[in-house]
Amino acid sequence: MIENSKLTKEEVIMTEKIQILQGDITKLEADAIVNAANPSLLGGGGVDGAIHRAAGKGLVDECRTLGGCETGEAKITGGYRLPARHVIHTVGPVWRGGNYEEDELLRSCYRNSLKLAIANNLKTIAFPAISTGIYGFPIDRATRIAISEVKEFLRLNTTIEKVIFVCFSSSDLQTYNKIAKELE
Ligand code: ADP
Repeated sequence: MIENSKLTKEEVIMTEKIQILQGDITKLEADAIVNAANPSLLGGGGVDGAIHRAAGKGLVDECRTLGGCETGEAKITGGYRLPARHVIHTVGPVWRGGNYEEDELLRSCYRNSLKLAIANNLKTIAFPAISTGIYGFPIDRATRIAISEVKEFLRLNTTIEKVIFVCFSSSDLQTYNKIAKELE
């Protein structure tokens, strides 16, 4: 079960299977939380740093065995000291103006993370707003991609029970809620 009450300021049930929350993804109990990692998989700033700090050293030790990760791809590890059982590390595109396949690469992050969840028999998965921090992807555009890709995936694959979008800021939460309504 997911215990969200501690971190939720606001929650919108978009569909039976998709939730949007505001909070700290490292506090979430889920089969997997997704990390917006960098290609080294050895930790960084933003949500990546927060996940590594909360998980403890075991996480970076396992990440070191993975040989990095390409942009748009995803790799899975244990969750170590996190409440989540696993971390799915995906590398979002750095925003370079929109003409460098950023949209398709970001879509791949969501799709490949969900595929990996299914391959590992995971039912609940939480995503941060990949690429929208240090990597500079415009939040509206990224949110539209995130929600539409997840919806499309859930339409075709019924084994995932819950996808949670975790927004760090209240303005991101507003954006997710607005775009979720548009895409209903
Ligand atoms: P990227 O390099 O992919 O842009 P960042 O970590 O810089 O990754 O930012 C991705 C998103 O994660 C941003 O919206 C940022 O506000 C958010 N974020 C940062 N820390 C956390 C956290 N602890 N829980 C959830 N989201 C977070």
